[in-house]
Amino acid sequence: MVRFVLVADSTLARNYRSVPLLDFLASAPTGAVPGSLYAFLRGPPPPDDHGRAAVAPYSIRKLEAALLRDHKREEVVVAHEDHLSEFVDDDTEVVGVTTMDPLGLGPLTMSYAVFFETYSPAYVEREFEYLLARINRARAGKKAKLVVGGPGVWELTVRPDELDRNGIDYAFQGESDDILTDLFRYVTEGGGENTGFFRGFQTFDGQFRKQWKANSKFISRYQFSKQFPKLEDIPDIVAPSTKGMVEVMRGCGIGCDFCEVTLRPLRYYPPEKVTREINVNVAAGMKNGWLHSDEIFAYEHGRNFVPNEEAIMELFNAVMAIPGVTSSNPTHGRISIPAAYPNLMRKLSRIIRAGPDNWVGVQMGIETGSDRLASEHMPNKTLPLRVGPDGSWADIVWRGTYVMNKCYWRPAFTVQVGQAGETPEDNWETVALINRMSESTLDNGAPFEFTVTPMQHVPLGLLKSRDFSSVRLDPSQLAVYYASYRHLAKVALRDATRASSDANPASRYVTGLMIALGGWAMFRVVKRVCRRGGLDLERAARYGLDGRHLQAPVIPA
Ligand code: SF4
Repeated sequence: MVRFVLVADSTLARNYRSVPLLDFLASAPTGAVPGSLYAFLRGPPPPDDHGRAAVAPYSIRKLEAALLRDHKREEVVVAHEDHLSEFVDDDTEVVGVTTMDPLGLGPLTMSYAVFFETYSPAYVEREFEYLLARINRARAGKKAKLVVGGPGVWELTVRPDELDRNGIDYAFQGESDDILTDLFRYVTEGGGENTGFFRGFQTFDGQFRKQWKANSKFISRYQFSKQFPKLEDIPDIVAPSTKGMVEVMRGCGIGCDFCEVTLRPLRYYPPEKVTREINVNVAAGMKNGWLHSDEIFAYEHGRNFVPNEEAIMELFNAVMAIPGVTSSNPTHGRISIPAAYPNLMRKLSRIIRAGPDNWVGVQMGIETGSDRLASEHMPNKTLPLRVGPDGSWADIVWRGTYVMNKCYWRPAFTVQVGQAGETPEDNWETVALINRMSESTLDNGAPFEFTVTPMQHVPLGLLKSRDFSSVRLDPSQLAVYYASYRHLAKVALRDATRASSDANPASRYVTGLMIALGGWAMFRVVKRVCRRGGLDLERAARYGLDGRHLQAPVIPA
């Protein structure tokens, strides 16, 4: 008897041919990337285990583990997306879905929508709708409730009409590890007078102050009760997670003023908890330990955000000591730490066996090339280095990238367009940073290895109405897109054939070819849009290349 069927948004369940960053493709507009190309590059669906997903996104594995604390194995299923209807019957009480970007309102998806001035839905949005339609067909005439949760729920708070349109009974906002059984009971009993929950959601005003809004379609933790699970309330996953990802901490604490993660309390997983979860993935044949946090160098950090070198190394040592693990990398980090602690990076690289054939990928938000915006919006992100006494923010990013590349780490940077208080001068500073890095080389003449992707901020009012026609990028903003995609096209041509770690050589070759051609084709379109928007392409391509050479950092042998 299956009482709870869990299923992930399909865009989270693919492995995108094992190419780092290719999962960004799901944010592309359906009108711009041909369906056949998208279908190939996202890779095959996860393996099927008698209708269950043999591998599933980490977030859904956490929900599964939380339910299994209170329910029997046969009552809880993480369904394979193609077989979910086989599990939904008259006994099913809840179908739970986790999602990241259900309506395509995330900053990356917005960057494509605004830049291309398109109304065509992104793949993330279209696939979410398909999945919900499938679920609604499967539960038609049955009692099962449809509940959506996950980090993308904020988008539903912006456009609550989408819940009814997609047949969603409730959206849950927040972390649920410790209250999931109560939540599902609350939902199946019709939401009565149970006081453990608030019927509504949290939102933030312009000054990032929390507000509560009542809405009967939303459920959150009760305002005056515990808002987050404690570390000991968070269960270990019991079945394999997509790409071998496991969490190592929650929260961040660095305090960037545009970031909601920083408002969550810090909880660090001890190495034993991390290794227990990785062992689950290793048993399924995975060899890489992909460590998720929003800022790995904040793991057990000290005063003033000084990295706790011992704790970080202990964590990676524990991961690499697991029999069967051959590599490991973190999901996110901040660039000021490699810039300030080259020795730490060298030691970490030794631990995780980074080398010419094993580059370590990590996502890093550098956000801007402007000292003014960096100091205003993210003063702690630059610590322990300080913009001014330790050089400009662009110099810190340059030094950090140099150190990372020397230690065989390849950062995937993101920059923001449309930040609060942004001026054209700030954007040109970002262009200068990208151009300078794109032309930089290491002491052995090798080009800097990095990617950079623009993220677009769109005012909340426009997200609500979805009328992006009034968001007109000025030439300085277009220049940020131009510099980013110019560099990406260069990297795609240079690195595409070795980008994929797909085990199948033929698919690795085809993937590499498609990425190289895709990067080139994308840049052609970007050039056209920028020219039409009044950008002087020659100026944008040369901007910031003043021939200035920075002192290469000393990296201990
Ligand atoms: S460092 Fe990253 S995760 Fe932390 S507050 Fe800043 S943007 Fe958010």
